[in-house]
Amino acid sequence: MSEYAIGVDLGGTNLRAAAIDRSGQMVDKMSAATNFLQGREAVLQDIVSAIQTMRHKLGSAPLAGIGVGVPGFIRMKEGFITGSNNLPYLENFPVRDEISRRLGTRVILENDANAAALGEKWIGAGREVDDLVLLTLGTGIGGGIISGGRVLRGAVGMAGELGHMTVVPNGNPCGCGNQGCLEKHAAATAVTAMAHLMHLGENLTAKDVSDMARLDTELGEKARAIWRVVGESLGIALATLVNTFNFPLYLLSGGVLPAWEFFAPHMMRTIEQRSFTYRVTRTETRIAQATLGNEAGLFGAAYLPWLES
Ligand SMILES: [Zn+2]
Repeated sequence: MSEYAIGVDLGGTNLRAAAIDRSGQMVDKMSAATNFLQGREAVLQDIVSAIQTMRHKLGSAPLAGIGVGVPGFIRMKEGFITGSNNLPYLENFPVRDEISRRLGTRVILENDANAAALGEKWIGAGREVDDLVLLTLGTGIGGGIISGGRVLRGAVGMAGELGHMTVVPNGNPCGCGNQGCLEKHAAATAVTAMAHLMHLGENLTAKDVSDMARLDTELGEKARAIWRVVGESLGIALATLVNTFNFPLYLLSGGVLPAWEFFAPHMMRTIEQRSFTYRVTRTETRIAQATLGNEAGLFGAAYLPWLES
């Protein structure tokens, strides 16, 4: 078998890993719950044994390295996670070096949305371009910026926190300390919260609210009003991103995509209104859906050892 790399996606409750070869073929994949209640050592051991099992299965094929995507703020040089809602027990601890030491292999730590953006660039919706922005619309909103085919990391590794762009001055408070962050008005959880406030129901998923928007009733009208807020909030953020980067491609992924037909018209209208750059580059600027779904982060994480070598 040819050389492969392993991509790991470490979520708050779930650990996924995939072995991927240089051509982008996924040759093995696993998923498991993490023992996050048992603390740091248990989670580190989960990661290490998942990778060892995978390496064992693949026999003597050469391993290029391991990329690990994590939800949180990364200190790239030190290989630390400095802020994370989901993995507090791994904060301010040399995660990268510890995994590397136990496995005897090079490990690269990366923010999960950055990894997803890189995955889309490598073999997803961004294959044809070298510059793109990805917004992942889930529990929160992650952002990844690919410039010249590489992740734009900034000085420390924290660039691309696009979910915390202010889109509503003094809007809903956010866990990051700001108010009116994009993720408080356009993430799947924001849709659930708005549906609750508008008495559409409890704990509705973005898909539920999308289905409701099809109804020709008062309920449907309320659901469509939620998607208008989502679309306009995304439009404000994207107009700024288009003005900032003049990239050819902006991708959206995650739980709100089933409602594309309801929010995208508002999003596009808002971008059109607010971005001069967009108006004069309309035919060269695409706003589109990502294509790798929740596997984008695995592909991107696996690609890192090749990209960084
Ligand atoms: Zn925020």
